[in-house]
Amino acid sequence: MKTIYASEFDKEVIQGGKVVVDFYSTECAPCESLAPKFDSCAEIYGSDIQFIKIFRQENRELANRLEVKSSPTVLFFDNGKQVGPLLTGGIKRSDLMANLDSMISPERAVEIKSKIIKTESHYDTVILGGGPAGLASAIYLGQAKVKTALIDRALPGGQISTTHLVSNYPGFIEPINGYLLSHNMSEQAKAAGVDYKSAVDVTSVDLKAKTILVDEIETIHFNYLILATGASPRPLGIDGEKEYKGHGVSYCATCDAKYFQDKEVIVIGGGNSAIEESYFISKFASKITIVHQFDKFQANKEAQEKVFADQKINILFECEPRAFIKDGDKMYVSIENLKTKQMESISADGIFVFAGMKPNLDLFSSQFEADQFGYLKVSDEMETSISGVYSVGDINSKKFRQITTAVADGTIAAIAITLKQSTVV
Ligand SMILES: Cc1cc2nc3c(=O)[nH]c(=O)nc-3n(C[C@H](O)[C@H](O)[C@H](O)COP(=O)(O)OP(=O)(O)OC[C@H]3O[C@@H](n4cnc5c(N)ncnc54)[C@H](O)[C@@H]3O)c2cc1C
Repeated sequence: MKTIYASEFDKEVIQGGKVVVDFYSTECAPCESLAPKFDSCAEIYGSDIQFIKIFRQENRELANRLEVKSSPTVLFFDNGKQVGPLLTGGIKRSDLMANLDSMISPERAVEIKSKIIKTESHYDTVILGGGPAGLASAIYLGQAKVKTALIDRALPGGQISTTHLVSNYPGFIEPINGYLLSHNMSEQAKAAGVDYKSAVDVTSVDLKAKTILVDEIETIHFNYLILATGASPRPLGIDGEKEYKGHGVSYCATCDAKYFQDKEVIVIGGGNSAIEESYFISKFASKITIVHQFDKFQANKEAQEKVFADQKINILFECEPRAFIKDGDKMYVSIENLKTKQMESISADGIFVFAGMKPNLDLFSSQFEADQFGYLKVSDEMETSISGVYSVGDINSKKFRQITTAVADGTIAAIAITLKQSTVV
């Protein structure tokens, strides 16, 4: 692997055969997450493909010319031509390998993979999930010198990393940007000495053997496990939803509202998220129609008042969506009026769905004691029905799910484990 300057780009990349280029920056959490994956891919694919790194901050002109807008960005070249999709953000090893495989023959890809050496590591505690709950556990365990790894399928931060503003987390007089709050928590945990394995595929978890297999190659042994995998938006399960997800149907206002400047939007839902996010979307969109199944909102009063006072926001109470349809650039929602049973179709440029959340427990089927909605039941110390396995934050059965409650759970589990564990580093 080589690190080059812009002046060497033509010689090393354009005239260089098969080449993969990583534009990286310093003080960049996703770059830190990518670095070991890029290094290990360089070791295994290195005889077929050249691996090159370019420091983006010192080679901005070249980066701009190649439309590299953020770090890390990985580009793939074959005989001077850019091939395959570029990768950016929290880049997974599997995505990197899929692009590399497409540059060589299928037979060679199989041969290369057969030579991958599997690795093993040992931790006292492994935290699965790096939202506020997992990060709070990480900070406490790290500071108590308990050997801890934090594993996340994305970059750490959880739901708050895509929340526009957080105004109710103690310690901040003015509302703080959700991304910044999660970034600070994540850096604090890292500074406490916790090892990160982020943007990875968690292949499997074996609770009996006390192991987690990551990216199909790394087996991580643990004495204690903290589940902190949080919750994800609950899909409506109606026609067209899966098909148009990311192509007209969104679940994240912070991520996507900017694409609807002066455009029309339909919001499905009536809880806190739907109402607060509608207010946020109205900074961009020209018109918002909220479709809600009940005759009043379930959101807090303050948020409701803001939405009722917003001239751009229209509300259809007691209506339910039945299907999403796309025609050209327009999205249509087929809705049923629950009172009259009449169907009608309304149109907009995009649809946002805020229909509640579901616990992220796909890895575990029904191994744990859970409530009727699938959320985990825990003891006062956050221990699940399986000894040595703790669970914290939004995956737990509870009435209120907030950053403060997630952080409280994470704290309790970490202190309980610290008092029990024996291995200190
Ligand atoms: C739009 C929105 C706005 C909000 N605003 C506020 C607010 O203003 N104030 C407030 O207090 N709360 C707010 N909340 C709620 C708050 O964000 C959550 O209660 C909190 O983030 C829960 O933290 P958590 O750590 O339990 O889970 P999460 O934040 O959901 O984090 C879970 C983490 O686990 C990872 N993960 C999931 N599955 C796996 C897996 N199989 N393997 C590895 N990793 C996995 C995810 O990538 C994620 O990083 C808001 C929520 C939303 C959606």
